[in-house]
Amino acid sequence: ERCHYFPISSLSLCTEDKGTLFHCLWSCPKVEELWEQVKLIIQEILSIRLDREPKLFLLGLYPEGHNINQPEQIFLNIWFLQAKRVIVLTWKNMGKPSVPQWVRELALSPSGKNYFYT
Ligand SMILES: [Zn+2]
Repeated sequence: ERCHYFPISSLSLCTEDKGTLFHCLWSCPKVEELWEQVKLIIQEILSIRLDREPKLFLLGLYPEGHNINQPEQIFLNIWFLQAKRVIVLTWKNMGKPSVPQWVRELALSPSGKNYFYT
């Protein structure tokens, strides 16, 4: 009944009766806000429109007919990866992943830095 998909005993993001990896990474109310903010920030920085779509945000699969170019895709992949990382990191303490935390992770990753601090 908890998010115990991974064999980490302290892993309990929420007490909802869904407990799937998909729930923990995507549809849990605790992570929805992060993804929404990530989406808004990315849209703002790259001046593009994104649908909050698990295929794209979780798997990096771009929708048919998208017009996101290669350099933008590289940044998107980094940002999505770091968002997932923040989510997984917060599972351990039952916290709620936050945007500042995501930005911090990006600042620490060499390739994510450039876009945020130029
Ligand atoms: Zn949940």
